[in-house]
Amino acid sequence: MTLDSVKEKILSVILGHAVADAVGVPAEFKPRSHFNLNPVTDMTGYGTHNMPLGCYSDDTSMSIAALDVLKSGSTDYIAIMDNLVDWVYSDKYTATGVTFDVGGSCMSAISAYKYSDRKSAFGHAPISERSNGNGSLMRIHPFVLYYYFTSGELVPHISDIEKASMLTHPHPRSLVGCGIYAFVLWALLDRPERASVYRGLTMAREYYRDSEEYHTYRRLFEEIGDPERELPEVDAIESSGYVVHSLEAAIWCLLRAGGYRECVLSAVNLGEDTDTVAAIAGGLAGALFGLESIPDAWRAGLIGGEKIEAMCRDAAVIWCENRD
Ligand SMILES: [Mg+2]
Repeated sequence: MTLDSVKEKILSVILGHAVADAVGVPAEFKPRSHFNLNPVTDMTGYGTHNMPLGCYSDDTSMSIAALDVLKSGSTDYIAIMDNLVDWVYSDKYTATGVTFDVGGSCMSAISAYKYSDRKSAFGHAPISERSNGNGSLMRIHPFVLYYYFTSGELVPHISDIEKASMLTHPHPRSLVGCGIYAFVLWALLDRPERASVYRGLTMAREYYRDSEEYHTYRRLFEEIGDPERELPEVDAIESSGYVVHSLEAAIWCLLRAGGYRECVLSAVNLGEDTDTVAAIAGGLAGALFGLESIPDAWRAGLIGGEKIEAMCRDAAVIWCENRD
């Protein structure tokens, strides 16, 4: 793979995710019934968080806080947690200098870490079954990209992907959600075609067959992930911040869409956790449909987009040098 094609793939996923986050931000928390009457058709500003057009949220901030470490060829979890502290408490990695939309489990983990001796990045996050929001799923793609471009195989690194989730979301349900996402993104990076979504889900299903969490993802594996079956109707898809719902909704949007724009808008118009479902879907859609599929106006409208693009280019150079 050439350096240019590595750069392009990294940009397609990181920007695909960040741009979609920004499209979803003004619509967050509104119910689906609202969008049935007033569908979102473009990137806009203000709305729910009263932020300007192109403003990304926690999903992107936490992702680039991790990418800022990963891009130098290391998974130094202490450095990643330090960056997350800088995000929450010093507004670093934000679009407009304002931190907003921080999830409960992330806030607990990051603040507990901040006031600890900071000798370990782990053991600070809540582990109850109720702590299974989408807060690790929304920031896991830079880790998948890192392993994809520095190593040849995913399976030996699934435990590393799960470890990255554990920084904020250590419950097995969140780990498996991040693992499933990694199989799908990996398959799309290998071959950017719709069949790869099914291939990734099949590989994840095999991998997690004996997991105690298999049943929570049964519908994703056996219904949404079966190319022989029709996709569920929209009314059967929930788009809350629960990790299982967010992953199902994102993959459902991805499988229905003919392109990046359609995928992201359909995710936003599901309502509720609009920015995160769109971001998860958008990163995968970037991988599937390619960098060129991201509308120019959206890419240009993303606040701080140049900085994020520079980070992706740095990552490509170092990761190519470090490839096994
Ligand atoms: Mg958000």
